[in-house]
Amino acid sequence: MILGKSLEEWQREYPLLIEMLKTNEVFWLNPNYRNYESAVAKIPLTEADVRDAEERLRKFAPYIAKVFPETKENAGIIESPLISIPRMKEKMESLFNKPVVCKNLLLKCDSHLPISGSIKARGGIYEVLNYAEKLALEFGILSREDDYVIFDSDKFREFFSKYSIVVGSTGNLGLSIGIISAKLGFKVTVHMSADAKQWKKDLLKSKGVNVIEHLSDYSKAVEVGRRQAETTPNSYFVDDENSTALFLGYAVAALRVKEQLNHLNIVVDDAHPLFVYLPCGVGGGPGGVSFGLKLIYKDNVHCFFAEPTHSPCMLLGCMTGEHDNLCVQDFGIDNLTAADGLAVGRASRFVGKTIENLLSGIYTVNDQVLYRLLSNMADTEGIFLEPSALAGAPGIFNLLGSDAGQKYIESNGLHDIIQNSSHIIWATGGKMVPASEMNDYYRVDSLK
Ligand SMILES: *Cc1c(COP(=O)(O)O)cnc(C)c1O
Repeated sequence: MILGKSLEEWQREYPLLIEMLKTNEVFWLNPNYRNYESAVAKIPLTEADVRDAEERLRKFAPYIAKVFPETKENAGIIESPLISIPRMKEKMESLFNKPVVCKNLLLKCDSHLPISGSIKARGGIYEVLNYAEKLALEFGILSREDDYVIFDSDKFREFFSKYSIVVGSTGNLGLSIGIISAKLGFKVTVHMSADAKQWKKDLLKSKGVNVIEHLSDYSKAVEVGRRQAETTPNSYFVDDENSTALFLGYAVAALRVKEQLNHLNIVVDDAHPLFVYLPCGVGGGPGGVSFGLKLIYKDNVHCFFAEPTHSPCMLLGCMTGEHDNLCVQDFGIDNLTAADGLAVGRASRFVGKTIENLLSGIYTVNDQVLYRLLSNMADTEGIFLEPSALAGAPGIFNLLGSDAGQKYIESNGLHDIIQNSSHIIWATGGKMVPASEMNDYYRVDSLK
């Protein structure tokens, strides 16, 4: 029995589960998708909160530019390019054997965000900066009018050394939190799940981060981290499953994307819809970005999440409405995937509830497809991504080339304008992957 129901009952109620249990690829449309007004009205976070986060990042920018020289040319603003990928589009059309008619197919290169090379450089870094600011204000060593470069001083580092930061991660969140926390002078402990790559642990250790390796998956690493923080004085737990700061840090991306689209002369309006495909682990990254995009583009943006066929936790949580009451292992799905950034068996309830009415749908992708897309992206565009980061790529083919996708287009009145649409594949990680590891990823596809 699973939550009081037999497997047969679950499958009868949710026939898509039958395919999910076979780890076949599926495409789920969210039956609770609502228009912008009703979807956002019930969310306690607002545009003012996102603007506040953006403002805080701007105040920290001089500090970031100083201590992370790679961010200097962008004046300490941690941002990634938004680019067109015409060669990859052509390659995928032949791979999926489906032509796609749209105005623009774009890649958001969070894979190449400075400092930690993944989407976690948004939420993770923001949350630690937010906490550091709060502490410094509370203890009177900072006033709001100060130039925040003073965070780069022995006085501040010594102050922060009395505090510890704790996080549980499949790897990339640990990298972000570890790097920024160590730079500010905090004591920092990262609990890594079994999926976490050795090079990530080594890199963190080299920066003085306390790395604790777990033999179990993400949920367990988070649980142990949470407990450690609760029992250690002066410690702060970065709660990937429940943090609004993290969520808002991700949401700021939307304000930047708006500027980038303007700059590219790409219009999003009633006649030019925007579709965004976001790889999903616990949900904070894609959830935060989607929330931010909805605030800006309202009903003209359509957000889809992508999960590995072996880790469809957000799909399971949203489809059943049970959120974190269920995990994929309850149904015998193993949560083993090459997409280590997405290897999460139990989704965030906070995110699931927040996006309940603004998410358009979720699809799953099989690891072989991720590897194929990885080598194709490298060959066609010269962009090297980690497997997780490719999960967004098949989204446009699912939308335009499937019955479910057609149904979405029809029922949302998009039929006559779909040819004017723009699509963003959100590439979430890859820059930090060592060359030898990347070479192994690249070769998997050709070894078959
Ligand atoms: C963390 C991560 C994601 C998903 O973010 P969640 O907040 O866990 O949903 C996607 N891709 C990569 C590479 C990641 O590291």
